[in-house]
Amino acid sequence: MKFNATLENIITYEAGKPIELVVREFGIEPKDIVKLASNENPFGCSSKVKEAVVNIVSKMALYPDDSMFKLKDALGQRYKVQTDNLIIGSGSDQVIEFAIHAKASSKSKILMNSITFAMYEIYAKHVGAEVIRTASQEHDLDEFYALYLREKPEMIFLCTPNNPTGDAIDSKKLFDFLSKIDSDTLVVVDGAYMEYAIAKDENKKVDPKELIEKFDNVLYLGTFSKAYGLGGMRVGYGISNSKIIKELYKLRPPFNITTLSLEAATVAINDEEFVKKSVISNFEQMKRYEEFANIQKIDIIESYTNFVTLCLSGTQNSTKLSNELLKKGMIVRDLSSYGMNAIRVTVGTAEQNSRFFELTKELI
Ligand SMILES: *Cc1c(COP(=O)(O)O)cnc(C)c1O
Repeated sequence: MKFNATLENIITYEAGKPIELVVREFGIEPKDIVKLASNENPFGCSSKVKEAVVNIVSKMALYPDDSMFKLKDALGQRYKVQTDNLIIGSGSDQVIEFAIHAKASSKSKILMNSITFAMYEIYAKHVGAEVIRTASQEHDLDEFYALYLREKPEMIFLCTPNNPTGDAIDSKKLFDFLSKIDSDTLVVVDGAYMEYAIAKDENKKVDPKELIEKFDNVLYLGTFSKAYGLGGMRVGYGISNSKIIKELYKLRPPFNITTLSLEAATVAINDEEFVKKSVISNFEQMKRYEEFANIQKIDIIESYTNFVTLCLSGTQNSTKLSNELLKKGMIVRDLSSYGMNAIRVTVGTAEQNSRFFELTKELI
């Protein structure tokens, strides 16, 4: 059977290995498996969210509120934006999909960082768009600008902090860059880890309200999957000019967010204390990774997120190391598919991190 030719070059996204797979493949007990592969919150989510979800289970027979009023209201208050500046997706992944489908076609170019979130390219390929990448490992906005002038892309993706490297763009530099981009180019600013970046360095803070007030061609993305600990609920959001939001809405399937997910996200955004505690622990624990890397003579990229990228040296091999760790029940992310001899490790609880150090020390 012949399929749409644009599918031929698409490599299916490889998600972090689930715990269930390690149980099946290696016969390890679930309690002995540590997953530090998908940047999930090691403390789970707010207990208030759990209570709220249990209380709303009786509503499962009814379709969700498709206006998403409560969640949009909560997000609107948090970011001081209007309801028509917001779109909710099944993960911010879905908002990325809407944005690319709304703006790009097989004649378009989409500019992104050399190493960045893999889904941008996958969705770009859905529409047959050409992906243009910078050469530098970290976002170099001068290079972005030179490529923008040369290639005239339809869209630009900036991921700050960036996944899978953890570095972040200075907001002043970001705003300077955006002021030089013409208003017909859609710039997506993906802030999936912004809660972490803000806590570490105010200079990295990107305020979506300020962003959309200054620029009418920018779409900001946020998610409940990382700091809020709701990866399993699949809720993300886009914040933009109401005209852009209106176009994205044309692509949204009805009822794309479940009743349980809407409730979970609404309660989560109002429990700031939980996020604050998670972020504090994250950076305390991250110091241990820095010390570990230092002692083991492994390069570590300074991270503004809840993960660290450990760059291995010549004789060490990231694929081999991550496979060996996997056999011992430790799931991390091998970055060889990004062309890096590196592993990405989510900062876990103190105990999970100790286990990682113990196992890795033995293996390298
Ligand atoms: C995790 C992540 C997302 C989106 O995750 P969802 O679970 O789909 O909300 C988006 N961008 C980056 C860079 C991420 O790391």
